[in-house]
Amino acid sequence: MKQQNRFQDENLLLSNFYQEVWAVCPSCAKKAMATVNYETKIARLFCTSCGYNKETTTEIKIGTIEVAANLYFQAELLLQAPFKNEIFWALNDKHLDYLERYIAATIREHKDRTGFTLLEKLPKFYHEAKNRESLLKIITKLKSK
Ligand SMILES: [Zn+2]
Repeated sequence: MKQQNRFQDENLLLSNFYQEVWAVCPSCAKKAMATVNYETKIARLFCTSCGYNKETTTEIKIGTIEVAANLYFQAELLLQAPFKNEIFWALNDKHLDYLERYIAATIREHKDRTGFTLLEKLPKFYHEAKNRESLLKIITKLKSK
């Protein structure tokens, strides 16, 4: 008998991954780290390859905004790949790992559905069993980035 691979929704929100995002360095196109601290209101984009280092505030005229760290710099996500007519993406390695565990699972359990968890909000193609293998291949590729 084939072993079933069980996954339980940990009810994580996309915003749980906002504070450390893997981005494409605007200077050398390698991996840069975008971070944000909502308490100090400082966002930072840093690249260990070329030394690119930029800091900005999360404050705007009408207050502060809390978005994924890369967005303060309009930096592109590092972990993304085309899939059919869609884009598969993850904010960082932990997010990618979470998606991988979900996609690999043959039994998916959702407790206390709210409609707001990141898994519940994923586009349909992430959930479809027929896409499992191709998506897992994409994930493996992205993991080497
Ligand atoms: Zn760089």
